[in-house]
Amino acid sequence: MADIIDGKAFAAKLRGEIAAEVAGLPYQPGLAVVLVGEDPASKVYVASKEKQTVEVGMRSFAHRLPAETTQNELLTLVRKLNADSQVHGILVQLPLPKHLNADEVIAAISPDKDVDGLTVANAGRLVAGLPGLVPCTPLGCLLLLQDVLPDMTGLNAVVVGRSNLVGKPIAQLLLQQNCTVTMAHSKTRDLPGLCRTADILVAAVGRPEMVKGDWVKPGAVVIDVGINRVPAGVEGKTRLVGDVAYEEAVKIAGKITPVPGGVGPMTIACLLRNTLTAAKRLHGAA
Ligand code: NDP
Repeated sequence: MADIIDGKAFAAKLRGEIAAEVAGLPYQPGLAVVLVGEDPASKVYVASKEKQTVEVGMRSFAHRLPAETTQNELLTLVRKLNADSQVHGILVQLPLPKHLNADEVIAAISPDKDVDGLTVANAGRLVAGLPGLVPCTPLGCLLLLQDVLPDMTGLNAVVVGRSNLVGKPIAQLLLQQNCTVTMAHSKTRDLPGLCRTADILVAAVGRPEMVKGDWVKPGAVVIDVGINRVPAGVEGKTRLVGDVAYEEAVKIAGKITPVPGGVGPMTIACLLRNTLTAAKRLHGAA
């Protein structure tokens, strides 16, 4: 049976370290979160981000805008936050209402305050190996992996999924750790066979329990990024599952992240870590 990688505990420890560092700073890092519209899941995420921001001693600036906000109004707010010296991190909660152009909004965020790591400047810095801000979920995966595998040199890593938000940045981070990285996607041939070569298998697909137990190399470290809501068998109830068939994979893997309680809790903790990093850089201290 695999060891379970406890992302919830790791994230709590990380938040504690961030809070201790924030307490020692001569200034207070600030995170601005912008929510447009009434998407219920986004409202929950934003409330959670605000709460955890305050808990680590940072300032939280929440901007809740109506669904009918125009592109110009949103861009004006982003530019105002770029210029606000009390704001060190800016996050625009996605998805935006359909009439808004998310790419243009993200491009307007100052790369130095882009704590989601979504601007082209930060994506480029990651590929070039330059200091920047790395997307939160991939950074969370890396921190969990570094904890269980302090030296990843030469290991075969297979990343299933190639989104800009998750798959591509994870692959870059693993390359920086000297892994031999293969990126898989919907057109990959013999995906099960490829996955069986992986010492590190990262699933970021968005398909419930797609990665089966017999796709996992015995002893491999499995990181399941997927968050999928499926029927729970009881009328009207749902439950969360990952992209990995956990009950099968846990018998084969060496270490594995559960869903929930694995990668998920790391995302907001890494958002706070990025805000701290951005604040220190903006104050010329990192
Ligand atoms: P996207 O839909 O943007 O990307 C999915 C990727 O999976 C694509 O590259 C796609 O390939 C690939 N894919 C789809 N079907 C298959 C298949 N049958 N075989 C192989 N590859 C396939 O998703 P995201 O990257 O945004 O998210 C992935 C998962 O991670 C989701 O479950 C999401 O909910 C979760 N997530 C979790 C977060 C967290 O905090 N833990 C944060 C963000 C996401 P192709 O490019 O060829 O279409």
